[in-house]
Amino acid sequence: MNKFNEAKPGSRVGEWAPYSYNIGTGCLNGCKYCYARDIAVKTEMIADKSKWTEEQVNPAKVKIEETVDDMVMFPTMHDITDNNLTTYMATLRNILNARNRVLIVSKPRMTCIQSICDSFAAYKDSILFRFTIGSLNERVCKFWEPGAPRPQERVAALKYAFDAGFQTSVSAEPMLEGYREAIALYETLTPTITESIWFGKMDDIDDRVDMAEPANEKAAQFIREFQSDANIKLLYDHLKDLPKVQWKKSLRRVVGI
Ligand code: SF4
Repeated sequence: MNKFNEAKPGSRVGEWAPYSYNIGTGCLNGCKYCYARDIAVKTEMIADKSKWTEEQVNPAKVKIEETVDDMVMFPTMHDITDNNLTTYMATLRNILNARNRVLIVSKPRMTCIQSICDSFAAYKDSILFRFTIGSLNERVCKFWEPGAPRPQERVAALKYAFDAGFQTSVSAEPMLEGYREAIALYETLTPTITESIWFGKMDDIDDRVDMAEPANEKAAQFIREFQSDANIKLLYDHLKDLPKVQWKKSLRRVVGI
């Protein structure tokens, strides 16, 4: 029988939800800083990093009847794409029918979000969307997240879910630029956020990003400078008293909270 995964307290997933679920592995987005790819290699879900952008969907995961007492984050090890949407929605329906609350985390594709919003209107109170938008700059997003939707599409998907009456939130972890751009992100997105916007640094860059590529090393150096302790403190001082702002562990460590 399929069961939810229990997140370790304080882990990346555990910061947001005590339970998680996936219907497969592999992610078309191919983010250069991906944490899930490293887990997939370590746990031998995939043979090596080069296989990560091949989506593998497991239809046997659709049937899930467990009921838990807190939020389920779904997905964590893949995204929602046209390739897996039908399986994703069938699984989501089962999770919701078992009276669970679901945190849907995605770099959202408009067609997928429209389908979910249109099909699950009756479950609005049990769904919280969290869309990852680390920058509004198309070129920067394309570099770090080459297979993901453009930021403009993600912003439009956020607005679609908000206008449809769903609970909405944003993850700006990792931020892909500096503190000024992060503040602009807050100001642009906050009108379509009902819950929170989470800011976090790009952590463990040297371990996660392929530094054999000179362009990656150069871009990582920008990130290190943009997200220096001094700049993170400037960001924190600017936003700390504003509503909806939340800080991920990667950033809390720097400002000492
Ligand atoms: S969207 Fe998430 S799982 Fe997919 S490649 Fe990017 S970081 Fe990895």
